Amino acid sequence: MAKVKAIRGMNDILPSSTPIWQYLERQVSTVLSSYGYNEIRMPIVEQTELFKRSIGEVTDIVEKEMYTFNDRNDESLTLRPEGTAGCVRAGEEHGLLFNQTQRFWYQGPMFRYEKPQKGRYRQFHQIGVETFGMASAEIDAELIVLSARLWKKLGILDAVTLQLNSLGSTESRQVYKADLTAFLEARFDQLDEDSQRRLATNPLRILDSKDSNTQNLLADAPVLSDYLDEDSKSHFAHLTELLDASGIRYEVNPRLVRGLDYYCKTVFEWVTDKLGAQGTVCAGGRYDGLVKQLGGKPTPAVGFAMGVERLILLLETLNAIPEEERSSFDLYLAADDKAAQQAVFALAETLRDELPSLRIRCHFAGLKNINNKARQSGAALIVLIKQTEQGPVASLWNEDALVQSDIALSALPEMINSAWQ
Ligand code: ATP
Ligand code: MG
Repeated sequence: MAKVKAIRGMNDILPSSTPIWQYLERQVSTVLSSYGYNEIRMPIVEQTELFKRSIGEVTDIVEKEMYTFNDRNDESLTLRPEGTAGCVRAGEEHGLLFNQTQRFWYQGPMFRYEKPQKGRYRQFHQIGVETFGMASAEIDAELIVLSARLWKKLGILDAVTLQLNSLGSTESRQVYKADLTAFLEARFDQLDEDSQRRLATNPLRILDSKDSNTQNLLADAPVLSDYLDEDSKSHFAHLTELLDASGIRYEVNPRLVRGLDYYCKTVFEWVTDKLGAQGTVCAGGRYDGLVKQLGGKPTPAVGFAMGVERLILLLETLNAIPEEERSSFDLYLAADDKAAQQAVFALAETLRDELPSLRIRCHFAGLKNINNKARQSGAALIVLIKQTEQGPVASLWNEDALVQSDIALSALPEMINSAWQ
């Protein structure tokens, strides 16, 4: 019988990769803690209505990327395509947003029906950050500065650039939208097919069309920055001032619009040229209107989400993962002969008592070629025990060579400890 396979675009993350995921997650949570952010965990499934009302009916996500189904009660549910909507829903539902400031983060799988390719999957993972109750540009800057700190910690800061734009207020954008639409309508025949379709539904998205003809046309199109209201202008000026003072480099990209409806004022993306077409590793912006749109009181908010798979691809491409983070154990413990095999189990427990942070993997299988097997395990340290007339003794190897042989088991913890430093 044919075997059942995983769903296209939904990947297993195998034990050979999980140490890298854990490494990344650890770095992220360390940085976020240092800025006083709290983790929130939301369900993976929400009412379809939530995404339609937040992301927007005529966005790519809602039009063609959502995994939507009816449950047994005939209620329309959707696997979350992103985390912001659910985070706002949860915050509102539990009274965490009104008249308060909040800094949340979350991580987990998101689902979008897209064409699977490198850096683009149907189940992918985001680490998202959302803040509420802060209207001024300091918090926009904090989000950017903390992400830059994370890139630095991960050793990828030089491989990413920050693109920045302001979308202005909803009102100022309406005026711009009308002018842009008029400009493009006059040139309708020269637009690519996708852009022709978007003109009626979501004309701003035409700005980031990949079609070169359309891009050429856009060179003479009205520019969003000329339409910004005073409040958005001074917000943006304050943000760039703060970034300048923090030594953060950025490019103002007037074409950066983001695919979701709910953004206003600040939008930003961290982009790399090392991953081909899927170059955005982190993206976000301000969404002051969303909480009200979902039924809450007006609440300023700003957040971002990073794509974990893309970050890991970038870490791999740059060879930026520390060697010790690739393995899940430090010491491989085995017997050298049958007579000593009994001692392995008890010795491992003693070592775990004495050296609680040492990660030990025991060899419980056959002893043929045990030396090679231990080497191939990838452990930084190897201990082999053998039986002598005086009882079991150990020999200890590091990656390069034999450290010492014939070590009494009682002396072993100290020996390992100094070899491990
Ligand atoms: P793109 O333009 O690449 O489709 P997006 O604007 O749809 O991205 P967002 O909704 O802003 O993406 O999501 C934030 C981040 O999540 C992206 O910058 C990217 O790193 C990651 N991401 C989005 N969609 C996918 C996907 N299908 N597979 C893997 N990562 C993704
Ligand atoms: Mg997308």
